[in-house]
Amino acid sequence: MKAAVFTSNRPSTEPFLQVRDVPRPQLQPGHVLLRVVACGVCRTDLHIVEGDLPPLQPHLIPGHQIVGEVIEGATADLPKGTRVGVSWMGGVDGDCWYCRHASENLCDRPTFTGYTVNGGFAQYALARTDFVFPLPAGLDDAQVAPLLCAGIIGFRSLRVAGVEPGQRVGLFGFGSSASLAITILQSWKCDVYVVTRGEGHRKTATSFGATWVGNEDAKPPVELDRAITFAPSGKVVISALASLRKGGVVAINAIHLDEMPAFNYDTLLWGERQIRSVANMTRQDARDFLKIAHDLNIRPRVTAFSLDDANLALLGVKTESSTGSAVIVP
Ligand SMILES: [Zn+2]
Ligand SMILES: [Zn+2]
Repeated sequence: MKAAVFTSNRPSTEPFLQVRDVPRPQLQPGHVLLRVVACGVCRTDLHIVEGDLPPLQPHLIPGHQIVGEVIEGATADLPKGTRVGVSWMGGVDGDCWYCRHASENLCDRPTFTGYTVNGGFAQYALARTDFVFPLPAGLDDAQVAPLLCAGIIGFRSLRVAGVEPGQRVGLFGFGSSASLAITILQSWKCDVYVVTRGEGHRKTATSFGATWVGNEDAKPPVELDRAITFAPSGKVVISALASLRKGGVVAINAIHLDEMPAFNYDTLLWGERQIRSVANMTRQDARDFLKIAHDLNIRPRVTAFSLDDANLALLGVKTESSTGSAVIVP
């Protein structure tokens, strides 16, 4: 099969991914073999190929927003041909303290799709049967893909921030994940304040009906109840913190931050303000979000790339130049 492969010790002059023929994965017990019909590109893929996350495999097929069709390993619940989604959490051990306490997102021995095991930048992918999600009809394949990480983890960020209906919520950064979260916030009658760099992202936020939109140096005109940061930058976390009311929460939707600047405790964190990171997702987050996305008819804007153009798709995420979410259609 054709796949886009990341080799961790390749010369730095070579592109991140090499598109080549590799053996098709063999069906394993407890797994399904999927024919990949689309796979979203996420900032985490960029962190993997740029080395912000340490390499765990010498050769890896990245990609963890997989839309695929079950072709082998079908079960009564997942008959052959079922369209399913696979996300970043590719499996857990099921018996560590976190798994036993409804926090499987924090599992001590997790499997991460497209990081600890091969992912979906390929024609076929293997996934654990208990970690695939049947997908609602109605959305086309490319439009479902960004829901599977950007969407689910964006939704989890709202939960971690403790957003309640009617609150004033700040979104710091307005890429794929934030543009999916805003629709949910609006359905909860929240006022949404967007702080983001890039004229294009500000225009998009305005077109999505944000209450207020400002550039990266601007401060929302009101104190926020909750804020979610999407940029991989510690400075942005501080801006979000500085915009909170007492008792407010910042949730950081980023697997990696450049660095966290020193900040003044007395003025920024005192008053029971909180900073929380958002780590991975649970299967319940996925099911809940996919239902909401279906009910609200969330349709991400996507740019499709062929597998041969996988490096271009990654570059679009890096430069934030592609409009909407980049999706590879093998
Ligand atoms: Zn566990
Ligand atoms: Zn992701």
